[in-house]
Amino acid sequence: MAVLDRLETLAPIREKVEAGERLDFDDGLTLMESDDLLALGELADLARRQRGGGDEVYFVQNLNLYQTNVCRVKCKFCAFARTNKQEDAFTGTAEELVAEAVEQYEISKFTEIHCVNGENPHVDLAYYAEGLRALKQALPDVHLKFYTASEIHHISKLEGCSHAEVLQVLMDAGLGSMPGGGAEIFAPRVRALIAPGKEPAEEWFDVHDTAHRMGITTQCTMLYGHVETYEERIDHMLRLREQQDKTGGFLSFIPLAFHPENTVFERRGFRFTTGADDLKVIAVARLLLDNVPHVKAYWIMMGLPLAQIALHMGADDVQGTVVREKIFQAAGATSGTEQKIPELVRFIREAGRVPVQRDTLYNELRRW
Ligand code: SF4
Repeated sequence: MAVLDRLETLAPIREKVEAGERLDFDDGLTLMESDDLLALGELADLARRQRGGGDEVYFVQNLNLYQTNVCRVKCKFCAFARTNKQEDAFTGTAEELVAEAVEQYEISKFTEIHCVNGENPHVDLAYYAEGLRALKQALPDVHLKFYTASEIHHISKLEGCSHAEVLQVLMDAGLGSMPGGGAEIFAPRVRALIAPGKEPAEEWFDVHDTAHRMGITTQCTMLYGHVETYEERIDHMLRLREQQDKTGGFLSFIPLAFHPENTVFERRGFRFTTGADDLKVIAVARLLLDNVPHVKAYWIMMGLPLAQIALHMGADDVQGTVVREKIFQAAGATSGTEQKIPELVRFIREAGRVPVQRDTLYNELRRW
């Protein structure tokens, strides 16, 4: 009887998915409240395939770099940020950045550098532009995916100029595209609890809106598994969908599970999200975000075994080799920071899918 009830609850949503109709807020909530993981996953995979998805699973060979971990904001979920006076605070020079990148490039020939930082009040726009310029000069073929919307907003406030002006300077210096961090959960109630010093959601959207209109593609994210409600998760995804309808510049959605270690939440008894919740978020995101091309199962965050299952529940990207990830490691991730390409290829193949190495903009580089 319980099984029948569950099937009936999801039946109207399945009809909409099969008809290619857009799902609404109530549908999203019904999906999020369902504990029928297999049905959710199957529905999400169906939606993905109906929109043209095949067996390909994408990954990129990339390097994570950090210019500074000094941050004025103090988000309560963050284990990465430091104040300028703390012993392990760092603010690297352009030369140091280039030296680190070139050293790693000799080993792994990555095609992308992903860089996010704290909101450092002691450096200016010229500092960031110099770093980009130096990297572009040293590694002209490498795509620079740099700076979250929160960082761009922070720099624009420091400089007293618009988001567009900051982005133009960074573009001229070599910026290729932007990661999706800083979104957290858009609901003001949640932002006030977990990141009271961070800009309101409207500023995050304005940066992405501006970037898209200037031809800069971006990613989008959601940090879940802390104090947010299901309603707030769905609201978050639908706001992203609305933005994508306007500008179409999000390449992928990356759900980020909250990692409590070394944060105030750990002392308050918060725990890691469960695998069931991680998979549910992937599936619901794939169903609701009908206009965002890709959903990532970020293996650094969820671990490779769970990411393999996520590939059958709506995800079609595992991010990449990700050498030297620091943010999730600081907050207790245990999945390591690096995968060699043969291991990623094996992991994708053993999930029954076709590994495709891509560049940042999803151009196919090699089909394995
Ligand atoms: S999440 Fe970002 S903005 Fe917030 S404290 Fe950490 S580094 Fe700073």
